[in-house]
Amino acid sequence: MNIVILLGAPGSGKGTVAGKLASENANLKHVSSGDLLRGAVAKGTEAGKQAKEFMEAGKLVPDSLIATMIKDVVAETTGDVTMLLDGFPRNLAQAEILAEMGAPVKSAVLIDVPDDIIQDRIAGRRTCPKCKAGYHVKNLPPKVEGICDVCGEKLVIRKDDNPDTVKDRLVVYHQQTEPLIAYYKGKGLLKTVDGMTGVDNVAADFLKVM
Ligand code: AMP
Repeated sequence: MNIVILLGAPGSGKGTVAGKLASENANLKHVSSGDLLRGAVAKGTEAGKQAKEFMEAGKLVPDSLIATMIKDVVAETTGDVTMLLDGFPRNLAQAEILAEMGAPVKSAVLIDVPDDIIQDRIAGRRTCPKCKAGYHVKNLPPKVEGICDVCGEKLVIRKDDNPDTVKDRLVVYHQQTEPLIAYYKGKGLLKTVDGMTGVDNVAADFLKVM
C-alpha cells in the first residue's frame, strides 16, 4: 500500500477527482477525512459528537480525533493499493502524524484553482448523502435535477457549504493547510495539476503525475 495526498482548497475538486479515479481503477482507494467525519456525525458516535460543532463552524476538528480515524483506515488497507487521501493532512502537525504512521507517501498532488473561482464552485455544490457522489449545478449536473445518478437519493447542500462558513473554511485553508504545499515541495513529493480544465482532464492529468 502507498499513499497519494490530494492538496487544494475546499471546492478545488479533490473529492470529485479522487472519487472518479477510484471508481475507474480497482487498485485506487478514495479515503476522504470529511466523509469519515460526516459518517461519524450521522451515526452519532462519540467522535462524531465531538466533531460536529467544529465542522459546522468551518473549523478543523482536533488533530487526534481525525488522526485516529485515518490510522484505522491505513492499518486495514493492505496489498497492491494506492490510497487517495483527500482532506488529511490538513496542517503541518497532521503531516508529521502521517509520517510517524510509517505509511509511504508516494506524492502530494495540488489541484490548483484560483481563489475567486472557489466561492462559486462551493455555492453550486450538491452532494448525495447516501453514496457521497458529488455534483455541481452548472459544472457537473446530475441527469435528473436534484437526484443522484448513482443511487437515486435526493441531493443535499452540505451544512458547511453556506457562504459564511465557506469564508471561514477558506481562511483556515490559507492559514493552516496551504503551508503543506511548501512542506511536500521540500520533500520532493509535490506535483501540481491545473484544476480549471474540467473533471475528465483534471482526473487524467492527476493520474499521469501522481
Ligand atoms: P471536507 O469534506 O474535507 O471539506 O471536510 C469538512 C470538514 O471536516 C472540515 O471543514 C473540517 O471541519 C473537518 N475536517 C475534515 N478533514 C479534517 C482534518 N484532516 N483535520 C481537521 N478537520 C477536518
